[in-house]
Amino acid sequence: MKTNIELISIGSELLSGRTLNSHAQTLGAALVKIGLRLSRDTTIPDEIETIQSAVREALERVDVAVVSGGLGPTSDDITRDALAGLLNRRIVMSQPGMDALRKRYAERGRAVSPAAERQALILEGAETLVNSAGAAPGERLELPGNKMLFILPGPPDEFAAVLADHIIPWLKGQFKDAVALEVRVLTTQGIGESDIVTRLEAANFQPLNVTIGFYPGGGKVEIRLSASRAHIAALETAALELRGLLGDSLN
Ligand code: ATP
Ligand code: MG
Repeated sequence: MKTNIELISIGSELLSGRTLNSHAQTLGAALVKIGLRLSRDTTIPDEIETIQSAVREALERVDVAVVSGGLGPTSDDITRDALAGLLNRRIVMSQPGMDALRKRYAERGRAVSPAAERQALILEGAETLVNSAGAAPGERLELPGNKMLFILPGPPDEFAAVLADHIIPWLKGQFKDAVALEVRVLTTQGIGESDIVTRLEAANFQPLNVTIGFYPGGGKVEIRLSASRAHIAALETAALELRGLLGDSLN
């Protein structure tokens, strides 16, 4: 079954060059491991209307939307307000979120300030996804039309923690038929991409049910062949054939 999963990364610093958006890589890699694919990553600034239109458009396309960033206590964190407005939901205090927040602060000998408490706010009807790496929990909100919206904190370690603890287990339960792709990797050296393509075209190398990706860098080209487990024989044959075609140029 084809599942559409999109990421919307929110943060003006991701667009100004201050911070490299690592969430697409984190989520993309985690999905591939369980046989799913990220279908789109949109990066947008911390602006209410831009957040609302990006999430509205994503929800028209996808089964699962993952929104990240802007959940913290500072004035530039407006994701929650933007989503509340878009989805017509109230913002409420999450009891599990508040319990986790208090515990976290107590362990560090700190009092929970009213500003810090804002991190335990969620959209009404959302399930709290406790954040084992930070203060602001994630949220899972089921929407009409069988759509699922996940809202995650921005810091990369927190994003990764909520992803691993909550989203991946949920997706695995939801998409039991998904099978991870089998991958074979060959790396060439001293031959350019266009020369590789010329050789493959001359041999009419077009394996059925096998996807080929070329990733050049540092004078090498990594060639990744992938296929579902059902087509593992085609994958092995293709890898063997490719090895034969590129033999003298393989690393
Ligand atoms: P916090 O409660 O820590 O403020 P938050 O949900 O509000 O969390 P942001 O304020 O948006 O998250 O971002 C917190 C930190 O994480 C910032 O340093 C930000 O640059 C970084 N960050 C956010 N999104 C990403 C991303 N997609 N890739 C890499 N870093 C990110
Ligand atoms: Mg913040």
